[in-house]
Amino acid sequence: MGKIDNQSQVGLEDRERMHSTDLKPVSGGKQGKTAKSDHGVKTEQDDAGYHSDMHLELSLDNSSDPAIKPINAQPSKAVDNIVERFKALRTRQLIVGVFIATVIVLINNLFHGRGTFVVQVLSVALVVYTFCYVAVRRGAVIFGGFLFLWSLYVALTLLMIQYSGLRDPAVLGFMAILVFAAMLNHKAHFLGLALTIGITLLAVGIAGQLGGLDFSNNPFGWDTVVEVLIIYALASYAIWTLANDLRFTLKRLQSENSKVLESKHAYKKIAHYDHLTQLPNRIIALEKFNHAVYHAQRQNSKVAVLFIDLDNFKTVNDSLGHSVGDGLLVEIANRLSRSVRDGDTVCRLGGDEFLVILDDIADQTEVSLVADNMLQEIASPLDIEEHCLTATCSIGIAIAPTDGKDFDTIRKKADIAMYKAKNAGRNGMMFFDDVMNKDMLAHIDRVNSLRNAIINEEFVLYYQPKVDLKSGRVFSAEALIRWHTSEGKIIPPDEFIPIAENTGMIIEIGQWVLFEACRQCKEFQRNGLVDFSIAVNLSSIQFRRGNLEAVVISALEAAQLDPSYLELEVTESLLVENSDDIRSQFRALQKRGVTFSIDDFGTGYSSLAYLKDFNFDFLKIDRTFIGDCIENENHRVLCQAIVTMGHKLQLLVVAEGLETQQQIDVLTDAGCEFGQGNFFSEPVPVETFYNLQSIDIRSSNQDPISDYIVSLV
Ligand code: C2E
Ligand code: MG
Ligand code: MG
Repeated sequence: MGKIDNQSQVGLEDRERMHSTDLKPVSGGKQGKTAKSDHGVKTEQDDAGYHSDMHLELSLDNSSDPAIKPINAQPSKAVDNIVERFKALRTRQLIVGVFIATVIVLINNLFHGRGTFVVQVLSVALVVYTFCYVAVRRGAVIFGGFLFLWSLYVALTLLMIQYSGLRDPAVLGFMAILVFAAMLNHKAHFLGLALTIGITLLAVGIAGQLGGLDFSNNPFGWDTVVEVLIIYALASYAIWTLANDLRFTLKRLQSENSKVLESKHAYKKIAHYDHLTQLPNRIIALEKFNHAVYHAQRQNSKVAVLFIDLDNFKTVNDSLGHSVGDGLLVEIANRLSRSVRDGDTVCRLGGDEFLVILDDIADQTEVSLVADNMLQEIASPLDIEEHCLTATCSIGIAIAPTDGKDFDTIRKKADIAMYKAKNAGRNGMMFFDDVMNKDMLAHIDRVNSLRNAIINEEFVLYYQPKVDLKSGRVFSAEALIRWHTSEGKIIPPDEFIPIAENTGMIIEIGQWVLFEACRQCKEFQRNGLVDFSIAVNLSSIQFRRGNLEAVVISALEAAQLDPSYLELEVTESLLVENSDDIRSQFRALQKRGVTFSIDDFGTGYSSLAYLKDFNFDFLKIDRTFIGDCIENENHRVLCQAIVTMGHKLQLLVVAEGLETQQQIDVLTDAGCEFGQGNFFSEPVPVETFYNLQSIDIRSSNQDPISDYIVSLV
């Protein structure tokens, strides 16, 4: 892979995620595709049918749901709306109440035959109330309320003048008008009415006394006028004070409600939208998916879920820094958003993972076109902080309802397909199919079995001798792990070490290997193998995640083995990481006397600078070069060159995978010091290893296995 700096190819080995703490808000992203969606969702606000306080409360909750409403709706406005709706509801209730009361009074009057005037006034009033109700219902709340109260006032005044003046029951109705005005919470309105009613009462009182109006059927004196006015004034004052208190409480409630809604609004934004790209997150993805599936069912169409993962994103993050990584993610988010239709949804699941939901899909071809467009959009070069990058991504696709109906199933299947796309060489798309499912289930099964293998201690170490090619002396053995399953199968490391590495189980397994290998080495020494050392393979994960130094020291101490008898084999991939932490662990162990080999040399990155830097003791030529060094001239030359180079770097060279005498001759002629391979012995369990030597241990005091090896050579 080329350098990242200019025109770099973004590459990702493992799928480690960025830390969101490093993310900074970037403008230019999409403010939630949800806002753009035209699914025709009828919101609660659209619905004017609030029939109870309970309904009002529900609407308060729903009004801030970003899944069905734009996230930037103003909370304080929402509260104002609720108060307005509340007023409208109360006005309508009052009108209905007064309407019913008027009907009863009307019937009562008809029943008692109190004259046509009452009937006429009340009938007109009923018509006006109906008009007021309709006006309020249509949103003219203030006008409707205003007209209603004044028409009520007029009706009562007419009745009062026509019949008993200040002794008429209509006077009581004036108090009710004031209470209604207070309830409708309109200050000027209340004062206007209170004053007018007061003046009317005074006028009727004076007119009654001075003979302007005739109330001889129910006469009253000045004392009644004064009393009625006093009572009226006191009642008005009390209602006015109550109304003020009510207004004040309502205002406070309103402002508290605004604050609550504002924080709720802010919280929802954080909880539902990604800070960096401004894209909706998994929660909204779930909502949108359910919605899309619901619609698809009705329209007999399908919903496609595309799981998108950037290829080699970690390399960008590690080599160019998190701010370039952030910039890349924002640009990718924009490009993805550009390559879908308006009703579709683009979400960021986290790290370099995105999810796209395409609704109303007819068939796979339609999805392929969109995915292809995305691959092309993403692959075109982009400039971020003076770096010109080329990113690629892998897309896994699952389709609802074909592959499942619930979000989790579809997402998982799209994820599985995405992994397959990665394994197939990246920068491509893959549709989920049942074979993938079986593969995945088999994988999960293997992971579980491996976990059980750790618990049930099903691992065994095999040992392969390392031979001094000049003297034929066996000076060491490489410990190679095998998994003896409960069903009696022997599984080689290549089949389970990668799983152990991916799942982190390698930490536990590696620790066991170290302890067991050190213990066995001491045992070999006790049984007569003089100056015998042991080689243990280490995974880079053990360096990265484990407290390797401490584990190695405890293994050595537990076995009472001198550190110089422990040789740790690492591969070149570890060195490429070039981290200070790895360096310091290396140095600390080297200081204690532990030796290091670079394993499988020639197959990895083969950076000579790192080789020198890490101060290795041994270099192991990979067996692919040794295997055909007789037939393949190039590989023979390479083997010779690696030996020479190793010596120049003051390394001892080990040839891995020696199988024939000719190979041994080529390597010995090239100056290679040590060899290992099936020619001497394949890796064997410890009992067999002992058997190989047992004759020699018993027959001579000399290094026992060397005789055996020498005889073979
Ligand atoms: P490696 O460290 O390069 O080990 C040498 C591999 O070459 C062993 O395969 C060995 O059986 C094989 N080999 C040796 N001589 C010959 C030969 O003459 N012909 C052929 N065809 N093969 C030969 P094995 O045991 O299957 O191990 C494979 C790899 O698994 C090891 O490669 C090592 O990278 C890894 N491994 C083994 N044990 C452990 C362990 O305990 N921890 C870790 N992390 N990795 C391990
Ligand atoms: Mg090895
Ligand atoms: Mg090797």
